[in-house]
Amino acid sequence: MDHRLHATVAMAETFYQLFVNRRAYTLQSHRPHPDTERHFYYRPKAREGQPPPALSLDIIRQHLAGKLTLGIYAINPRTQRSKWVAIDADYKNALEDLLKLQYELRQDGVEPALEKSNRGGHLWIFFERPALARECRIYIYHTALRLGLPIKGAGLPEGIEIFPRQDEIGSDQFGNAMRGPLGVHRGARDSRGWRFWFYGADYNLEEQLAYLCRLPKVTEPQLQGFITGKSLPEEFVRRTRPGIPKRYFSSPAKEFRILDYVQVRRQSGRNWIAQCPSCAQAHRDTSGDNLAISIEEPRKYLCWAGCTKEMIRNAVGRPISQKRYA
Ligand SMILES: [Zn+2]
Repeated sequence: MDHRLHATVAMAETFYQLFVNRRAYTLQSHRPHPDTERHFYYRPKAREGQPPPALSLDIIRQHLAGKLTLGIYAINPRTQRSKWVAIDADYKNALEDLLKLQYELRQDGVEPALEKSNRGGHLWIFFERPALARECRIYIYHTALRLGLPIKGAGLPEGIEIFPRQDEIGSDQFGNAMRGPLGVHRGARDSRGWRFWFYGADYNLEEQLAYLCRLPKVTEPQLQGFITGKSLPEEFVRRTRPGIPKRYFSSPAKEFRILDYVQVRRQSGRNWIAQCPSCAQAHRDTSGDNLAISIEEPRKYLCWAGCTKEMIRNAVGRPISQKRYA
């Protein structure tokens, strides 16, 4: 099945107005990772001496056309605001939970849009003007907790995830990206991917975008009214700079620990993310996220750009002892 569609610059402009909070972006890899068969998202690399690539209308147009798949960020670090909140649910009965949440939000006069996904979906709420990430989060956490919905984190392995996932991010941080709606998800159904639509309109780009534009947007006074006197439940406060557990440092001095040599930028799934020392030596990985280090077993680490363990060990000045191979 061919998932290519005709997409125009005008469509890309509408998408930008609805969804784009900042011009950093990610792309979904066309080929699955050989070990996990997952289609990872990566941040496109800057050419040497150039600023990092910024999202353009043409890239959005290609996303809508299905030529590439875009990931978009929730927070603009200059304002700590977002144009939207997205609630991601991907587990058994996820859709049921999203429908409950949608119903509850409608009681507040909010009109969320439900986008289909693999096992569940994404519920999107749009703001008239970008809203503080912290405030959107307070609203959704409280609504979800009132309904007794499972929320991922704080001890629960499965449940809804709320984007923005941080209250605030630093100027050098990105937070978490969402798959850009209306595009092709490369991991789904078959290797060529699958397009997921919003339930609220006919399944074509024009109708879908028109529907999203028509949806009533939440105003600032409305949001203030929803969260008066509320704060984020303590168990869901996320630390954007994860602390590295001390025990990883308490190993005998001779044993090599990659965490002694890199600065962890953030957490992604079950990994710490850092700049790859070997890439850095070659003036690559300027965005500092090529190296993934297993949180559970920090001795395991991998450079997405393909640097070998030997290259990384050389780069940090702790070459792997030749004796091991003798
Ligand atoms: Zn590398």
